[in-house]
Amino acid sequence: MPDGPIYLSNGKNTAEPHCPSCGRKNDGFTAASHRDGAVLPEDGDASICAYCGVLCVFTADGGLRFPTVDETAKIMQDPRIRAILARSPILPPHAP
Ligand SMILES: [Zn+2]
Repeated sequence: MPDGPIYLSNGKNTAEPHCPSCGRKNDGFTAASHRDGAVLPEDGDASICAYCGVLCVFTADGGLRFPTVDETAKIMQDPRIRAILARSPILPPHAP
């Protein structure tokens, strides 16, 4: 992730992706981006399941999948991702 200000935007993913680990629907999101304004997830963007905290990657059709080994290595270079994962899961297991 490049240096510079980070903007947060909330949204709803109409593709209604499900976590590849716990199967829970992750259609709401908070995006952290260097672009100001609304940001939608793109193919290859990292995500963290709000329920079980597993690291995922968005697919071209808006779904979620497990990252490859190479993707995981690249994503884990970002200290902010490591900090978020250290505090996961974000929501309690039975949250709606
Ligand atoms: Zn999950």
